[in-house]
Amino acid sequence: MNSICGFMSGVSNVDTPAHRGAGNVLGVTFLFARKVDVVFCNKSNGCKRPFEEGKKNLQLTTGFCDHTKNVCRRGRQTTLEIMMLARGVVVALIVGIVSVSANLDTVERPIQIVQLVPTDDAQVLSLVHLYETGILDFWRAPTKVGATVDVMVDQRQKAQLEAFALENGISTVKTLVTDLEQMITDQESDANWRAKAIKMLHGSGRSRDALEAGMDDFGLSMADYHPYGDIVAWMGRIAARMPTQARVFSIGRTVEGREINGLKIGNPVGDSSKRIIWIDGGIHAREWTAVHTTVYFIYKIINKLQRREADLLKVLDSVELVVIPVLNPDGYEFTRTEPRNALVRMWRKSRSNDRCATDRNGKQTCCKGVDLNRNFDYRWAETGTSFHPCSEIYHGAGAFSEPETRNVRDAILNSDLTGRIDAYVTLHAYSQLWIYPYSNKKQSYPADIADLKKVAARAVNAIGKLFGTRYMHGTGPEIIYAYTGGSSDWAKEKAGIKYSYTIELRPSYYSWNGFVLDKSQLIPTARETYDGIWVVLDTVAREARGEVDPVPVVAPTPARPTTTPRPLAPGECRDVESTDPHFA
Ligand SMILES: [Zn+2]
Repeated sequence: MNSICGFMSGVSNVDTPAHRGAGNVLGVTFLFARKVDVVFCNKSNGCKRPFEEGKKNLQLTTGFCDHTKNVCRRGRQTTLEIMMLARGVVVALIVGIVSVSANLDTVERPIQIVQLVPTDDAQVLSLVHLYETGILDFWRAPTKVGATVDVMVDQRQKAQLEAFALENGISTVKTLVTDLEQMITDQESDANWRAKAIKMLHGSGRSRDALEAGMDDFGLSMADYHPYGDIVAWMGRIAARMPTQARVFSIGRTVEGREINGLKIGNPVGDSSKRIIWIDGGIHAREWTAVHTTVYFIYKIINKLQRREADLLKVLDSVELVVIPVLNPDGYEFTRTEPRNALVRMWRKSRSNDRCATDRNGKQTCCKGVDLNRNFDYRWAETGTSFHPCSEIYHGAGAFSEPETRNVRDAILNSDLTGRIDAYVTLHAYSQLWIYPYSNKKQSYPADIADLKKVAARAVNAIGKLFGTRYMHGTGPEIIYAYTGGSSDWAKEKAGIKYSYTIELRPSYYSWNGFVLDKSQLIPTARETYDGIWVVLDTVAREARGEVDPVPVVAPTPARPTTTPRPLAPGECRDVESTDPHFA
């Protein structure tokens, strides 16, 4: 195989009908040459050159040549990768899945979710390489031996994936969802009987969910998903009726020209002496529950403010809330255009213009979109991210190459907010995780990790109290996988925000239906998440008031082993990590 070490000379921005849409969710050819930000290499020329010319943050003089893909990678090669190179199997195995075109016309329905379970390190690594090529849409990325890997496939890809598994010795391959689009229709359509039942109960007083399913005072139901325009209009009505306490703001425009709007809530709003808590959702288009939960958070806070509830007023004495329900409105609106088409509904990235890449056979493939949660300037492009424009985890041409992420950066570093933000909370789906920095590798923590961990433990405890929902907490590599370029790591390291968290909402890590949450779970999900975020609000407010932490987090060690834990005192939390590393 010939290898080249060329650098990106330009990017093609085309948007042909064949490439518009979600075609790149399905298979594409890969091993790009020219026109993409990948540096190719071979054993002789190595990678002792900058990864990309003219980009200061990438001026690396070291790195290694990943011979499985013949691309330069930053950092050091792992033992596992060296071992796989010795086996020389990865390229051959992955090449077997390159023939599917990115054209929507080639989709062979039904679209399914297939689960694989790697049983040794070599199998894990082969799946990691497959994941990073972006050929397939991994709903659950490979992490370790024994951990399940879920992949969305059409029928042609399924056959190829099964062949891949067979060649690679992965014996556990099963179909989790036999028809994803049918499942979407069942769970998300207006015909969903459980959601319907909740709406019918509205006003009967029999259920709090039912009450919240009706229109709120500002004309939005909490029982459903809503178009971006309706959410913005709703925030506008709140601000119009409560001008001293709520204000709509914009952090700038998206690729397609939409304003990214949010709502500031304070008592009064705009008091520059207050500390700030930033909450956002919807950076990933398909994660509708994250948008819904952020909207619900606003609803709940406004509701409490209207009633002048004492606990909220006390928090707002020292804190102002900055809430952005949809950071990626282009992507969100795209997923709503054909909500029963899995290839549209499951779009994850932004809607940035096509970037094109040429495969080894000279065929050009173009894909839209950047994974905005890999585009922040925190160890950009290092791990858990992809160079390939068609990948679901494509990190973009450079850190902050996208207007959406630049807008977040500029708003947070704006002189109005800088130094005042004490918490950054970003909502995602799914897996029921409360993630704190850093997610680049294991044992990578900020100096004040004990504080972040303590608040995370309390938050997941609060979440669990309502319905018993179990969340894990930890860094990315501790509880899911390592990745870089995420917003909360950037918020912590570069913006200096103390309590920085990524929250992955329902369903659980072990769920088979992933992003497709039954509509009847919307309000319960939002309610329990509100309780978790409230812990962050309360912590920031207490610290702003100069109060000393009154709550013991680590329960005293019993004098002797006991099978029955001492009952918790009111308000007390217990650190259970000694027996169950991540659940609380
Ligand atoms: Zn996400």
